[in-house]
Amino acid sequence: MTGKKKKVVIIGGGITGLSAAFYMQKEIREQNLQAETVLIESSPRLGGKIQTVHKDGFIIERGPDSFLERKTSGPQFVKDVGLGSELVNNATGRSYVLVGDRLHPIPAGAVMGIPTQIMPFVTTGLFSVLGKARAAGDFIMPAGREQGDQSLGHFFRRRLGNEVVENLIEPLLSGIYAGDIDKLSLLSTFPQFHKVEQDHRSLILGMKKGLPASNQKHEPSRKKGIFQTVKGGLQSLVDAAESKLTDTRILKGIKVEAIEKSGAQYSLKLSSGERMEADALIVTTPHQHTAGMLPDKENFQYMQEMPSTSVATVAMAFPEDAVSIEGNGTGFVISRNGDYTITACTWTHRKWPHTVPKGKALIRAYVGKAGDQAIVEQPDHEIISAVLEDLNKIMKLDQKPDFTVVSRWKQAMPQYNVGHQEEVHKMKEKIMNNYPGMFLAGASYAGVGIPDCIDQGKSAVSHALDYLKK
Ligand code: FAD
Repeated sequence: MTGKKKKVVIIGGGITGLSAAFYMQKEIREQNLQAETVLIESSPRLGGKIQTVHKDGFIIERGPDSFLERKTSGPQFVKDVGLGSELVNNATGRSYVLVGDRLHPIPAGAVMGIPTQIMPFVTTGLFSVLGKARAAGDFIMPAGREQGDQSLGHFFRRRLGNEVVENLIEPLLSGIYAGDIDKLSLLSTFPQFHKVEQDHRSLILGMKKGLPASNQKHEPSRKKGIFQTVKGGLQSLVDAAESKLTDTRILKGIKVEAIEKSGAQYSLKLSSGERMEADALIVTTPHQHTAGMLPDKENFQYMQEMPSTSVATVAMAFPEDAVSIEGNGTGFVISRNGDYTITACTWTHRKWPHTVPKGKALIRAYVGKAGDQAIVEQPDHEIISAVLEDLNKIMKLDQKPDFTVVSRWKQAMPQYNVGHQEEVHKMKEKIMNNYPGMFLAGASYAGVGIPDCIDQGKSAVSHALDYLKK
């Protein structure tokens, strides 16, 4: 990369764009490249779905509250922006699943609902004797013959039966994607389960073999949880990353309205009325926004039509003694067959004790899922009263909350339905041909979790640099 400085523009300042900007700046410095970076974000703040509220000593996450520690790019990014000493793991405790009107502990050893220990499944009240016998069919059943993609529902119903799916796997999985298990793609969400089946035939035995020896004991001996966050809330990760972007031009409150190709370069039409030229683009906006910027969006039908689900989180603060909670519980998910508006609930003061003042409790409930999103459009008081009505059926609340924070996330959870991976592959090929030097990354494509987004941001940086060095 010699001669005139090349300009890389990153569109969208959520975790994907932010991590892309951070690692792009790092590469430019370390390799002494003749390049500059601009990060453009339409809202007045960076972070996208990451947003933390500080109120009366509480740290309240409006969107994501943590990331998986084992996906290393999450903790690594925290360390890279200088917050390594702020990393904190969740406290371990029991998680439950609500079936009918009863909270059942999630059986020990269940990995995404797949049994890896036999006794806790034999003794749980979550499934009938017939349901358990059907799940045991996994031991003798041959591997599936499906060549291409299939829905998670189809896969798990075939291996473990409907009851295990409805009462455990569906509530756990839909908690991540707010999606319909009978539409969500196996290959785009949990390809490892497909591999386990193909390699080991039995899902239960294959998962058991794949676990580290320490996890195979009958009672979990882990002292810390599998999730991490930063002590000041995830917004502090965003703020720390932003403060490190000293060689990056950051434009906030400016929307990219159109991406136009102009010779070997790109010309961006900005909402400020200006135009900006770019030699390479990393586009990290949600797919429907990205489609809106392309002049030939009709060529990108999947990008336009891929569904996203709307959800809302409802955080409620109470005095601790006004809330009665089962044992050492940290939260529960809900079987979709129940008559509840909420889809899951975290007893946040148990899971993340550092986020609440002493003597206080914080309950965070989730509403909205594929096929049931109307609640998200309701005014705050309607959502709050629906959530309280549900909570009062499940646990004892002696008073109204001291305060409540409702956060709506419209069209926020991209749905990786069957065929997603192949459609994304085709889309990226078309982008490569029609828009060389433009790279797509973010939650719409290859993983919705924070570490997945960071991985995509990093990978887009290396593709953009390879392109500019050609
Ligand atoms: P976004 O955060 O959506 O960022 C995209 C950015 O692009 C936005 O800031 C937007 O304003 C900007 N933009 C849009 N159009 C334009 C334009 N034309 N010009 C310029 N800028 C534009 N993941 C986890 O790992 N752990 C969790 O606990 C977790 N919980 C979640 C809870 C909720 C309620 C939600 C909604 C998601 C959760 N997720 C969780 C998923 C994760 O938070 C998201 O997938 C991730 O933050 C998405 O990051 P992103 O950068 O790809 O997109």
